[in-house]
Amino acid sequence: MAKKALFQEAVFQDEAKAREALEAARWPNGPVCPHCKNSDQEKIGRVEGKSHRPGLFYCHECEGQFTVTVGTVFERSKIPLTKWWMAAHMISAGKAGMSAHEIHRTLKVTYKTAWFMMHRLREAMKEIAPEPMGGGGKIVQADETYYGNTSKRAKHYRKGHSRKSSVVALVEPKGKVRAFHVKRATSDSVRDILVRNAHRTSELHTDESPLYRNVGREFSAHKTVRHGWNQRGVYVGPEGETTNAVENFFGIFKRGMRGTYVFCGEQHLGRYLAEFAFRYNNRSGLGVNDRERTANVLASIGGKRLTYRPSH
Ligand SMILES: [Zn+2]
Repeated sequence: MAKKALFQEAVFQDEAKAREALEAARWPNGPVCPHCKNSDQEKIGRVEGKSHRPGLFYCHECEGQFTVTVGTVFERSKIPLTKWWMAAHMISAGKAGMSAHEIHRTLKVTYKTAWFMMHRLREAMKEIAPEPMGGGGKIVQADETYYGNTSKRAKHYRKGHSRKSSVVALVEPKGKVRAFHVKRATSDSVRDILVRNAHRTSELHTDESPLYRNVGREFSAHKTVRHGWNQRGVYVGPEGETTNAVENFFGIFKRGMRGTYVFCGEQHLGRYLAEFAFRYNNRSGLGVNDRERTANVLASIGGKRLTYRPSH
């Protein structure tokens, strides 16, 4: 398998190389001090010598020391960086995600560590304060779906939407997606997501759901399409309007969740959505190759809120 050949690369084998590559991914313009945000390379030096941790930097601005993992979701983890590169590669390749069991077996770490690594990497995959989507002359598709423990094996299996979580997603056709977990999709929650994430100069494309009726008036245009129109289940309106990009994303998400993850507590749904959105937004169709995709996960380990106690 290609996977084997790829793990021959230095970042998966050599801890010093893994560290250098992580530094290059996180700091394309040179190290940034996590304590005082100083990025003046004249005022940052490497601390060399056998008595120091590898990859240690000294900031002349605040007199603090740091490595590439300080202030990141990897902070204080004792997991080798080569294993983080492997896990980042595994979680970002393919459409359906990667189970913690698979990581546990392949990386030869405990299941608990594998689970911890996956959640940290999902945290890295979250976009922080992204630019608004769409804009003048551009289209934003919006749609909502329901996700829940529909597996009959799940402990609290119930039929119907009431027990499920709502997911709202915005997609630029042939572009990127943003997906949100909401308690319930209502006119208000949908409006809140739309006005905070899309330029009002965009053209909004949705299905005929009444949820979008009012907020639609706040956009330069609002076109509605019907689901399931032609034999491919895609309706293309008289002016080419569809919502198939957003439906396509929901399809990938649901198939992946069913096949790979099965159980996902509601408290984690936002992280899984971030993972699926990351892969969608770093897909090869947008010109991102495997190597870049893996580096893009690791480039974003900083500046995240730590939601787990570092205990590994
Ligand atoms: Zn500093």
